[in-house]
Amino acid sequence: MPTSFFNKPVTELMGIGRVSAEKLSNLSIDSIFDLLTHTPTEYQDKTKVIPISDLVSGQPALVIGRIIESSIKNTRKLSLTCVITDETDELRIHFFNSYAAQKDQLKTGLYLRCFGSPRQDFQGMTLYHPEYETASHPTALIPKPYLTSVYRGTTGLTQYQLRKFCDTALSALNSECANNLSLPIEFEKKFNLWNLKEALNYLHNPPANDVSIFQDDHPAKYRIVFEELLAYQINLQQLKKQYQSQKAPALLHFQLLDQFINHLPFQLTQAQIRVAQEIRQDLAQDTPMLRLLQGDVGSGKTIVAALAALQCIENGYQIVLLSPTELLAEQHYMNFKAWFETLPLQVGLLTGKLSASEKQACVSQIKNGKIHFIIGTHAVFQSAVLYHKLGCVIVDEQHRFGVEQRSLLLEKAKEGCHQLLMTATPIPRTLAMSLYAHLNISIIDELPSGRVPIKTSVMPSSCREDILLRIKKACLKGAQAYWVCPLIEENEQLEAQSAETTAHDLSVNLPDLKIGLLHGRLQASEKNRIMDCFARGDIDILVATTVIEVGIDVSNASIIIIENANRLGLAQLHQLRGRVGRGSQASYCILLYQLPVSQIGFEKLKVMKNCQDGFLIAEKDLLLRGSGEVNGVKQTGAMNFRVADLFRDQYLLPTVLEAAEALETKHPEYIDSLIARWKKVKNIDYSYV
Ligand code: ADP
Ligand code: MG
Repeated sequence: MPTSFFNKPVTELMGIGRVSAEKLSNLSIDSIFDLLTHTPTEYQDKTKVIPISDLVSGQPALVIGRIIESSIKNTRKLSLTCVITDETDELRIHFFNSYAAQKDQLKTGLYLRCFGSPRQDFQGMTLYHPEYETASHPTALIPKPYLTSVYRGTTGLTQYQLRKFCDTALSALNSECANNLSLPIEFEKKFNLWNLKEALNYLHNPPANDVSIFQDDHPAKYRIVFEELLAYQINLQQLKKQYQSQKAPALLHFQLLDQFINHLPFQLTQAQIRVAQEIRQDLAQDTPMLRLLQGDVGSGKTIVAALAALQCIENGYQIVLLSPTELLAEQHYMNFKAWFETLPLQVGLLTGKLSASEKQACVSQIKNGKIHFIIGTHAVFQSAVLYHKLGCVIVDEQHRFGVEQRSLLLEKAKEGCHQLLMTATPIPRTLAMSLYAHLNISIIDELPSGRVPIKTSVMPSSCREDILLRIKKACLKGAQAYWVCPLIEENEQLEAQSAETTAHDLSVNLPDLKIGLLHGRLQASEKNRIMDCFARGDIDILVATTVIEVGIDVSNASIIIIENANRLGLAQLHQLRGRVGRGSQASYCILLYQLPVSQIGFEKLKVMKNCQDGFLIAEKDLLLRGSGEVNGVKQTGAMNFRVADLFRDQYLLPTVLEAAEALETKHPEYIDSLIARWKKVKNIDYSYV
């Protein structure tokens, strides 16, 4: 990769030392290009000088005047007041906790330019703690004709410093030969793009008369957003090519697989058959599969994973199923063991909670190839775990894992390794197109037949008594329920407490029913015991925290009550609701809210009540919450953009795709430097594959 001056650390610039560099690093600014692309979030108009007599209380203004009085009022706290005049009127300026040097700066007779929001108080119009500069002559204070940039900041760095740093980076940009920062002129013309240097200069210092700079589609902004998306897109496509140039074992025997399908207790859906076929073909190639399997909660992804596993094992390779929680790993383990009971293969479970000796036994069996199918959590990619012959990795709920974690696992394969990523978090199609440009995508867009839609109702938590009655009735007839107590703060202990309290209340109020309690602070063995009891029907109501959010599958459970529903995200609500509706009986989801509920909160509840399609819900989520918040996108690590925002800028994506192709075919010599300049020095975002 050709790195340039702009990829060098900020400390290469005059005036930025180690201490400032460390603070900049908190803003993910490490290289000079990072600084250049740290574009303002806002602009202040400090170009017009307002006469003091025209000041309006509460409206920020720039004022210039001569200091006619300067005094320290309270000697202990050093509160400094000075009065300035500009001939139209006088203005008081006040600093609490002043310091001696400040009094020297603000001597009578000097001229002062200051910016702030004046307040009308009992002593007249006053400015408290304004930004200011002084000079002995007013001409030195005439403002520059640029808007003042306001940057996203961090503790220990003032706006003044940030502005100075960016200006230094711009001077470097303007003096350094920035040829390697360009795109072909012909290309820029075709796609209506400014020159990058011009755009960056403009964004940091826009002229005062350009009111359109506040808009998202200003050509200067458009230029750099477009370029970032372009770099991202082309990079993904290159990664895909690179991945496909590797070798992987071609898995050509399907006997076990076919035999298994013929003995399934249910009929696969058309969608399952289709995606299973896509995966089967991928695995039969001698290049690595890299496929994302998307399917709404309950659509039956696990069985598809089982088919891939059999193909892998029959051909003499091991396969790993990585799952985000112990609970889910355990459940998968039970399922697969049961499914594969009569087949000549070994399934093993490897999680962090195994005892040292159990773990050792498991690890040695993995190493000598005795275990064919390894199900586990993060434990499966620890360094002590060596594989005999790893052929495929399946990642369940893939958005829960970071890029680095997956690559740790892949490194354990001796040759190239097939990958199947599964997710129940649907991503709006337009986004998927760009975000997953390097993946092949299979979608299960159909639920197994016989599923009855879940009836969702929304109620204030004051209706608890009615709900208790309803549940009691249902449970006495054999139904089972989840009662979810999410807490809003990320605090496992508090969350566990609230679940404990609820479980206690329920057992007092419903003495005829068996109440279970499940939260993240329980021992793994205890969690499993409780899940087993619930699965067997020995527990009627399972009070739980959001630990049950992913994957949990108990088909007899048909009621879910979610407290504080208005405070949860739509994607999370949809996942939780997906715990029911897994069998053929009618299922119910009751969303409880506690006042006050925000506007967005109500909107979310309405969406949940009226909609059960994961894709639609994801789109609504996007509309309601916007940028970066949408579950499953944020965590991919693919979203660490500097200036682009896939949500705000998604209208650009089709053009970006077209431009990517044009650049690759007509001007491939520009590609390396394009990707190199956008690559982060520290956080390597682009290694998603
Ligand atoms: P998810 O896609 O959310 O991971 P699961 O794989 O857990 O869904 O499947 C949900 C439930 O549906 C499981 O109990 C599974 O055994 C069952 N299931 C899967 N496929 C079918 C099918 N074709 N017909 C009936 N039930 C199915
Ligand atoms: Mg699942």
